[in-house]
Amino acid sequence: MSKKEIFEDTDFQKEEQNLQAQEEQDDGYEDICYICHRPESKAGKMIRIPNDIFICADCMQKTFDTMNHSGFPLADMGNLGNMPNISMINLSDLQNINMMPKAQKLKKKKAKEDKEKKPVLDIRSIPAPHKIKASLDEFVVGQEHAKKVMSVAVYNHYKRVTCDNLDGIEIEKSNMLMLGPTGSGKTYMVRTLAKLLDVPLAIADATSLTEAGYIGDDIESVVSKLLAAADNDVERAEHGIIFIDEIDKIAKKKTTNQRDVSGESVQQGMLKLLEGAEIEVPVGANSKNAMVPLATVNTKDILFICGGAFPDLEDIIKERLNKQSAMGFHADLKDKYDGEENLLQRVEVEDIRKYGMIPEFLGRLPVIFALDALTEDMLVRILTEPRSAIVKQYQKLLSIDEVKLEFEEDALHAIARKAKEKDVGARALRAIIEEFMLDIMYEIPKDDNIGKVTITEDYIENKGGPVISMRGCQALEEKAVGI
Ligand code: ADP
Repeated sequence: MSKKEIFEDTDFQKEEQNLQAQEEQDDGYEDICYICHRPESKAGKMIRIPNDIFICADCMQKTFDTMNHSGFPLADMGNLGNMPNISMINLSDLQNINMMPKAQKLKKKKAKEDKEKKPVLDIRSIPAPHKIKASLDEFVVGQEHAKKVMSVAVYNHYKRVTCDNLDGIEIEKSNMLMLGPTGSGKTYMVRTLAKLLDVPLAIADATSLTEAGYIGDDIESVVSKLLAAADNDVERAEHGIIFIDEIDKIAKKKTTNQRDVSGESVQQGMLKLLEGAEIEVPVGANSKNAMVPLATVNTKDILFICGGAFPDLEDIIKERLNKQSAMGFHADLKDKYDGEENLLQRVEVEDIRKYGMIPEFLGRLPVIFALDALTEDMLVRILTEPRSAIVKQYQKLLSIDEVKLEFEEDALHAIARKAKEKDVGARALRAIIEEFMLDIMYEIPKDDNIGKVTITEDYIENKGGPVISMRGCQALEEKAVGI
C-alpha cells in the first residue's frame, strides 16, 4: 500500500469517527428525513449524509430504485410525479440545512424503561385540591368558588391521566368553561395554574379560528401552539393545557343565510379536539407545507379550558329566572333580578345553549362556572395582596433606590374607583397607577435625600401632591414632585 493511500485511509477513518461522535452526542431531538419529512420515530433509523442531512431508509431505497430505472432522477423532473413522497432537492438549500432551527425539530420521546422510572405526571406529585387552591390563593384574589371548582377539576383531570382503566371504568375528561366579565382574571387564573403545575400552556383566541380552508387560523393550530410551548416535546404537550379565550365569539350566528365559518363550524370542528383525537400538527410553523415536519399529538389528555365574557347572557338568565318566578302563588316582581350583580353565577347549560353554543360542544365541557365581577374592595386587594401585586412591584423598584413607598388606604380606594369606571376589570389598574407613578419614578432618583413617598387620595384625585419625607428627617415635608 502506498504512503498516500495510507494517509487517505486514516483521513477516512477520522471522518467516520467524527460522524459517530456527533451521532452519540444526543441532544434529545429527533432527526427528520430531508425528503419525506417524517421523524425518526416514524421512519426508522436515518442515514446521515454530510452537511447534517438525514434521509430515511425508505427514501434512500426509493431514490436508488428510480436511479436504476431511469438514470439520475433528480435531474429529471418528469419522474418525480411517479414517486410518492419524494420531492425535488434544491441544492442551494443544502447550504442552509445547518441553519434549520431547533423549532422545527421534534424532541425525542423518552425510552420505555426511562418512563417507568420517572413518569411525566406522577399522581403523588399532583397536589390535592386544597393545596392547589392554597397556591392559587397566593396569586388570585377572591373568586373563591371559581378557584375551588378549578382545583377539583384539575386534580381529577390529572388523576384520570395517570390512572389506568383496566377495570373498564373510564373517567370522563374535565374540560372547563369559564364565564366572567372582561378583566376578571380568567386568563390570569389559567396562567397561574399552568405555572403551578409546571405544564405547558397555549392561549388561543377563538375569534381568529375559522373552519379549515378559510382565511384565519385552523382549529388545529391551537395544538401546534401547545407543542411549541412544550418545546416540541410531544409527550409534554399531551399533558398540557389549552386555553381558548373569547369562546362566546364563536356562538351560532342567529340571522345568517351564509355559511357560518367562524361560528358554529368552529364549534363543530373543536368537538373531536375536546374529546381526544390524534392530530397531525406542523412542527415549528403555523401551517402545514412540504418543508415542515409533522408530529402526531393525541389530545385525549390535554385539558381544555374555554373562557368568555358572554355579554348578553345575563339577559337570558334573567328571562329564565323571571319566567320561573312568575308562575304559581309565589310570583315575584318582574324586575327582581335587575339589580343583581353576579347573575352569571346562576347560569345553567340551557342559558348558554340559548346564547348560541351547540349542545355537543357544551357536552364536552362538563365543568361550567362563573367568575365574580370585581368589586372596589377586590380591586384594592388586587393592588396590594397577590405575590406580585402592582404596589409591591413599585415598592421593590423604589427600594432599590432606598426609598420607601406607601399608599394611603384612601388612595388605593380612589385608584380602584377610577378602575371600576373604566369597566375593564383589573386590567385598568396598571394603566392608572402607571400614570400617577410616572412623575414619581422620574423625579425621585434626582434627589438622594428623599427617604419616603406617600401616595395620598388627593394626589390620585388631582387635588394635591404626594407626601415626600426626607431621609433622617422626622417631620414630613410636603412637596409636590414637579407637578
Ligand atoms: P380576562 O378575564 O379578561 O382574561 P385577565 O386574566 O387578563 O382577564 O386579567 C387581567 C389582569 O388583571 C391580570 O393580569 C391580573 O394581573 C389581574 N387580575 C384580574 N383578576 C385578578 C384576581 N382575582 N386576582 C389578582 N389579579 C387579578
